[in-house]
Amino acid sequence: MAEGPLVHYYASRLKRVLDGRYASIELRLPRFKPSEVSLKRVKVREVEAYGKQFRIWLEGGKVLFVHLMMWGSWGIYRKGQPWERSGERARAVIRTSTHEAVVFSAPVVRLLTREEFENHPRWGRVGPDPLRKDFSRKDFYNRLAKRPEMPIGEALLDQSIISGVGNILRIEALFRAGVHPRRKTAALSPRDRRALLRWIVSFMKRWLDDRNSASRWMKIYRKSGKPCPRCGAKIESFRQAGRITFACPNCQC
Ligand SMILES: [Zn+2]
Repeated sequence: MAEGPLVHYYASRLKRVLDGRYASIELRLPRFKPSEVSLKRVKVREVEAYGKQFRIWLEGGKVLFVHLMMWGSWGIYRKGQPWERSGERARAVIRTSTHEAVVFSAPVVRLLTREEFENHPRWGRVGPDPLRKDFSRKDFYNRLAKRPEMPIGEALLDQSIISGVGNILRIEALFRAGVHPRRKTAALSPRDRRALLRWIVSFMKRWLDDRNSASRWMKIYRKSGKPCPRCGAKIESFRQAGRITFACPNCQC
């Protein structure tokens, strides 16, 4: 489960060991032979987090693009330190003179040119990320306005509208804002939108600062059939955008 805050956390650790360093990059994908060194010596310009994406920009204009989806993870090790997961699960290994950064089990690992990346229909044009300095709330509202018929619970998981919001963040922010996940985006008042975004940003920052904080601010995630902490009504659950969502039928309308 890699929601935006976890991606930013990993990226900040990766930056410390990779930014400005020379590295070899070994891709272990089915179409490459095992252990084939894909790039022998390349300077890492910058590790960037964008929503749920890792973009590792390399000298010469290429980008190593990684998306962990539901199963992937990173391991960051000092040279020689044993990995805590099997090497068979490694999808990419980035080696510097002092460290090894390993992507385990991630379904999406690609080496792309900047152009290929920017023109990619799914990865290249994602919505604004509230954890980035370049976040624009206006951009988010405009993207919402283009999908007036879409239920807000689906819109929040659509990475072309907003980046980095996963299932837990959407459920809890909608609950705090008093907005039902099935409400269409066009039916949100400016006040609803502001409240929703405020809660999203607040939870994202708390989660980034303290990765164990979610248990303190989660109120209804996986609480199907349990009483709502605010009004006592039974929390309902249903499928939306392929994921189980939770809502209070009384507090959220
Ligand atoms: Zn309630």
